[in-house]
Amino acid sequence: MHQPSTQARPCLYYNYQVFQPWLASQHPTPTRQQVVIVGAGPAGMVTALELARHGVASVVLSAELQFSQGSRAICFTRRSMEILQQVGVAERMTEGGLPWRFGNSYYRGQQVFRMEAPHDADDRFFPIINVQQQFMEEYLHDACAAHPLIDFRWGNKVTQLAQHDGFAALQVDTPEGPYTLESQWVVAADGGRSGLRSAMNLAMEGASYEGFFVIADIRIDLPYPTERLAFFDPDWNPGNTILMHREPHGIWRVDYQLPPGETPEEALRTESLKQRIDAQLKMIGFEGTPWEMDWNSVYSARTLTLPEYVHKRIVFTGDAAHLLPIFGVRGANTAFQDAQSLGWHLAFVLKGLAPEKLMQNHSTERVGAAREIITEAGKSTRFMAPPSRGFRLLRDAVLSLSLTQEFVRPLYHWRTSRPHEYSRSLLNSPCDDNAQFKGGPALGAPPQNVQFQADDHLLDHLGGGFDLVYVADNKGIPVDIAQAVASLQAQGLPLKLIAISSETAAVEGANLSLHDPQMRFQARYAVQAGGAYLFRPDQHICARWLQLDAARLTQSLQVACMR
Ligand SMILES: Cc1cc2nc3c(=O)[nH]c(=O)nc-3n(C[C@H](O)[C@H](O)[C@H](O)COP(=O)(O)OP(=O)(O)OC[C@H]3O[C@@H](n4cnc5c(N)ncnc54)[C@H](O)[C@@H]3O)c2cc1C
Repeated sequence: MHQPSTQARPCLYYNYQVFQPWLASQHPTPTRQQVVIVGAGPAGMVTALELARHGVASVVLSAELQFSQGSRAICFTRRSMEILQQVGVAERMTEGGLPWRFGNSYYRGQQVFRMEAPHDADDRFFPIINVQQQFMEEYLHDACAAHPLIDFRWGNKVTQLAQHDGFAALQVDTPEGPYTLESQWVVAADGGRSGLRSAMNLAMEGASYEGFFVIADIRIDLPYPTERLAFFDPDWNPGNTILMHREPHGIWRVDYQLPPGETPEEALRTESLKQRIDAQLKMIGFEGTPWEMDWNSVYSARTLTLPEYVHKRIVFTGDAAHLLPIFGVRGANTAFQDAQSLGWHLAFVLKGLAPEKLMQNHSTERVGAAREIITEAGKSTRFMAPPSRGFRLLRDAVLSLSLTQEFVRPLYHWRTSRPHEYSRSLLNSPCDDNAQFKGGPALGAPPQNVQFQADDHLLDHLGGGFDLVYVADNKGIPVDIAQAVASLQAQGLPLKLIAISSETAAVEGANLSLHDPQMRFQARYAVQAGGAYLFRPDQHICARWLQLDAARLTQSLQVACMR
């Protein structure tokens, strides 16, 4: 019988709530579900919220009775915030978070590189915001708990899985014993040690790097702004790297590499942790400043992915699908993109708006994203923790040259998580004007935000279905386009016709009119009156026209739904 801990996890800055387990005896006999999501981490919960946005109900199972232990993910990218905005939790993240955009790299005590992440008025969110993962999980959970289409079950652990024709059967263990749950689709969002992945005997491809890092969260008052600090080859840890991040609630993360040969057990001894943190504080000029340990853990870098995410009716997502190194803050940030993609692909199949092969497209696109991230992350990992003498020689040459040579300093640049461009997607239109555009986001690219007014941005209005953004300027929507949109909507396709105009008056024939007084959309998207962009439900671009016409719009939507 599954007995998850009912002891609240210890934490200096977060009061863990222990939730009541969901017990089958207190609920009607379950019928076959449309979607069961195994795992209530960021991947599982965003998938549930995205599905709900498309009107699809799901059951979310969490083996535990509380949110995850320790800060884990703390850095969330702008694209993640845009996705979290879609599922209604960006405001809480912003309220509780520390935004930042600068990073400082030091070599032997000297600052050798200052990274500046781009940020302009069109962006609603900062390049990165620091929020501890427990808070992010709480915000997502609250949104799930408030949604009538999401059935959230604490203390329900999947122990067995069987695939049948058109559905899967799960054995779910609870504090009162097991029950069986059948579902048309199962989302395996059960984390890096995925029991479902093991049960199905699925092998991952990629590399595991040698060398360990310690993460220690300490409570301390340090007078630094929220900027990333990276120290290469410091006196107290020669040849290795140390990262420091400010977290909300007076917490700092100290992340240091261990010398070769040291075991995780040795590294996590209280004395060893204290000695190293004291040494780091001394190095930055804060010797003797009082501090308290909150949480610590050891990790090593892995760049692994399943080669396929969809296995009949089981779909792997988040860490269950891929394991990415911490450098570049990729785990949760990638999980959000997976979830946003999975939500609409699966909803369209379940609602009969697209054939089942659309799920294969989800797998192909997200595996492609993971492979790109793995290539990028591998570069950062090899710089932070050189895996061989050759790599170390190269890294050390960059470090020492950087003291005097400006040109090598950008090689320190820490490649952070960025959204993948689905430039080769089968959903991209073959009959648009993409090739003739002189700028703007191309087919497959993620959206670029546009500020219309002080608190009004383009992405505030997109999502939940396809969005056709048409530059109407001061004219109405041409009749044939309005008719084509109405006819597709009548067939059940979630499609919104959004008109952009420099006039305040509503544009006739549009579902929504956006007032763009300075015509910023036209500038950022390199398009004039009569032109348009078609955004997929995950807001990636799948068609764009210099002059839109009804026939090509209809054809592009058929392609985007694989019909
Ligand atoms: C120290 C550290 C620092 C990190 N920093 C960052 C960062 O700054 N930015 C970033 O983007 N990422 C970071 N990450 C990675 C990030 O934490 C993970 O990528 C992210 O949590 C993955 O989300 P997930 O939902 O896929 O899996 P998880 O968060 O691991 O969630 C898995 C869920 O599945 C449940 N579960 C497991 N087995 C079962 C079962 N059999 N039945 C039912 N439920 C089950 C678990 O209880 C849990 O709810 C960090 C990770 C660590 C460890």
